[in-house]
Formats: sequence, C-alpha cells, structure tokens
Amino acid sequence: MNFEYSDKVKDLQARVQAFMDEHVYPAEELFAEQVSQGDRWQPTEIVESLKAKAKEEGLWNLFLPESDRGAGLTNLEYAPLCEIMGRVHFAPEVFNCAAPDTGNMEVLERYASEELKERWLTRLLDGEIRSAFAMTEPAVASSDATNIESDIIRDGDEYVINGRKWWTSGAMDPRCEVLIFMGKTDKSAPIHKQQSMIVVPMNTPGIKIERYLPVFGYDHAPHGHAEVSFTNVRVPADHMLLGEGRGFEIAQGRLGPGRIHHCMRLIGVAERALEKMCLRTKSRVAFGKPVAEQTVTLERIAESRAMIEQARLLTLKAAYMMDTVGNKQARAEIAMIKVVAPNMACKVIDWAIQAHGGGGVTSDFGLAAAYAGARTLRLADGPDEVHRNQIGRLELKKYD
Ligand SMILES: Cc1cc2nc3c(=O)[nH]c(=O)nc-3n(C[C@H](O)[C@H](O)[C@H](O)COP(=O)(O)OP(=O)(O)OC[C@H]3O[C@@H](n4cnc5c(N)ncnc54)[C@H](O)[C@@H]3O)c2cc1C
Repeated sequence: MNFEYSDKVKDLQARVQAFMDEHVYPAEELFAEQVSQGDRWQPTEIVESLKAKAKEEGLWNLFLPESDRGAGLTNLEYAPLCEIMGRVHFAPEVFNCAAPDTGNMEVLERYASEELKERWLTRLLDGEIRSAFAMTEPAVASSDATNIESDIIRDGDEYVINGRKWWTSGAMDPRCEVLIFMGKTDKSAPIHKQQSMIVVPMNTPGIKIERYLPVFGYDHAPHGHAEVSFTNVRVPADHMLLGEGRGFEIAQGRLGPGRIHHCMRLIGVAERALEKMCLRTKSRVAFGKPVAEQTVTLERIAESRAMIEQARLLTLKAAYMMDTVGNKQARAEIAMIKVVAPNMACKVIDWAIQAHGGGGVTSDFGLAAAYAGARTLRLADGPDEVHRNQIGRLELKKYD
C-alpha cells in the first residue's frame, strides 16, 4: 500500500481546501441565519449559490468511482477530499457529494435502466434535485434488514407499495423528488430473496410525511429525517431495480462505497474539534497556566491526534481494498472503520467540549451539533454491535 497522494489528488485537495477557505467557512453563519428565517424546510440561497460556484470550478461529483459520470476518482483518491468537506456539515452538498444522494446515485448508476437514469440520475448529478433512501421501519428492528416488512406487490403493470418508514433522511427537503424504497415482494421466498428495491417518485399519491424526527433536539433543516407512510402507492413495474428479490444484493453494493463516506467525513469533523480544542485551551488560563498545559489536556490532545491518525489510516486501507479487491473482500475493513470512525469522533469531540467548559455545550462553537451528528453515526450506518459481530465472526473464521 502506498498512501502518498498522487499529483491529481494533491491538486484537488488544494482546490477543495481553497474553496472551503474562501467560500464555505465564511458562509457558516449565513447558512444558520437563512435556515432560521421563515420556513426552515426550504433550501438556502447560500448553498444554492455555492453549488453553482463549485460546479463552475469543476469541484463537482467527486465521488462515484468506476463511472465516467463522476470525476473518475477511486475511493482512495476521494477519501482526503471527503475529509476536507466533512469539516462543515453543509459542505458536502456544495460539491454535490452529500448523503444520501451519493449512495442513491451509485445505486442508480449500477442498477437502474437507462430510462430511469435519464429521469433521475442525470438530475441528481446536476444537483437539481435530491433523494432519500427508505429502509428503516418503526415497527421492526431494522438493523436486521430481513425484518423489513413493507409490501411491494405486483399488480399488472404496476407495483403497489404499503408500509411505514422512519429515519428517511432528506425526505423533508422539498427538492427531494425521488426515493429508493426497500420492501418485500415475496414473503414466501428464502429469507434473503424476499426484499426488493424500487424507485419511487415523491409526488406519487399515497405518500405522506407524518413528522420530522429530531436528533438530540436538532432538526437538521432543511435536510431533516422523516417518518413517512406509504398507502397504496402505485409505481410503474419498470421502476423495480435489478429485479424482484434482489434487494440484499443491491444493499451490499450500496453499503460499501456510499457508506464509508461518513467515515471519511468524520475524520474532518474530529480534526476540526481538535483544532478548536487546541486554540481554546492555549488561550485560557486556569490555576496559573494555560488549560492546554494542564497535563490532562495535553494527554487528551495527544490521544486525539493519535486516534485521528489511526482512524484515517484505517479509512484509507478500507478505501484501498475496496478499489483493489472489491467490497466483499474489504468487508472486515469496512465494518472496522464503521465502528472506529464514529467512536473516535465522539471521543475527540467530547474532549473538545470539556476543554471549552460551559461554552462547549452551547451553539457558539459548533461542538454540540458535531457531537450529535457523530453520535448518530454509531446507529445510522448500522449499529456498532452489528459491525462488531461481523468483525468477530470473520476473525473466528480464520480458525475454522
Ligand atoms: C440520523 C439517522 C439517519 C438515518 N438515516 C436513514 C436513512 O436515510 N434511511 C434509512 O432507511 N434508515 C436510516 N437510519 C436508520 C438506521 O439505519 C437504523 O436506526 C439502524 O439500522 C438501526 O435500526 P433500528 O433503529 O431499527 O434499531 P434496532 O434494530 O431496533 O436495534 C436497536 C439496538 O439493538 C442492538 N442490536 C441490534 N442488533 C444487534 C446484534 N446483532 N447484536 C447486539 N446488539 C444488537 C443495538 O444496540 C441497536 O442499536 C438513520 C438513523 C439515524 C439515527
């Protein structure tokens, strides 16, 4: 493995960094202001204008490996760029690299018909619309996807969908025009052949946003997470992806690339928290010396640096393996980084909060929001326990 970034990546790193410095960091306050004015569930002018600038500069769709529709970067090449974007929560959208669109675009790219691609993928890649992914259900333990029980039933030239989903991220955004829905097409089939994925236009009759779901009190507007009901929702049969009963196959493809993006971003989140911890503790004096020089703070700073470096290297290793031997062979590394990155980020942010004293839990430093975001990723990417079980089983298998 050689983790030296190529000249192409170094150039992109410098350009993304310069864009962040010039346009994104200075827009943080304005973004918060625009969200808080009027209807919170409307896109902001600032993000729309930054999107146009990033597109103009060619800093657009940097994800999407193995496709000529993206920037032609491998996962390993994309990782350091995604990390830089992760430092500001709305930045990934500015570069059209935000979840869940990235995962959905990958699914459409790999599994949709040309017609569906034309209708949805092109517009997603243009940043004109947004999308959602509806798998999790309030009624069942959804970390075990075999439990998902919504119906997708064939009726002539259409499928009829009934079910209730929650944690459908992005569904609150009026630009969210399409979602990928997971449900059962055949409850009598073998357990891993019961589920399918289908493309559902959001304006189809029978879809109702029941409520938004707050995360530790944050609404994550204008993106948001929603509980959504589907009552006799009819979509054309050709909206089925890959074929009936192939939902798990698609999920395995989707849970690879799209999902380690969160890990890449979390490295950036943790770097920023550490930066804030250092700056704050160097400038505050308690009991006769800067807080930074109290041994416990020094130790936490040192430990944070070591943890971030370890997580970055594991992220790069997982990305490298996805590029070279594929998602299946890389499954232990993918599972490991999904455990390591959010736990690392939570710990580093927690220390940064502590180092800021009372200020750390206000909205003044962005640390409380960063903690809430990082904490969700011990669940949103599949619970830690499920990944640990997989890592443990793969380890034990070596001794069969
Ligand atoms: C902010 C956020 C955004 C999300 N976005 C989306 C989205 O866009 N689309 C979508 O479909 N879903 C989304 N989710 C849902 C997320 O994927 C699920 O919450 C997750 O898969 C867990 O499912 P569950 O909530 O049903 O928990 P359950 O399955 O009920 O599990 C509860 C707990 O049981 C324990 N547990 C489960 N299995 C095991 C095991 N094998 N061993 C030991 N312990 C175990 C774990 O502690 C787990 O947290 C999001 C969640 C959050 C918080």
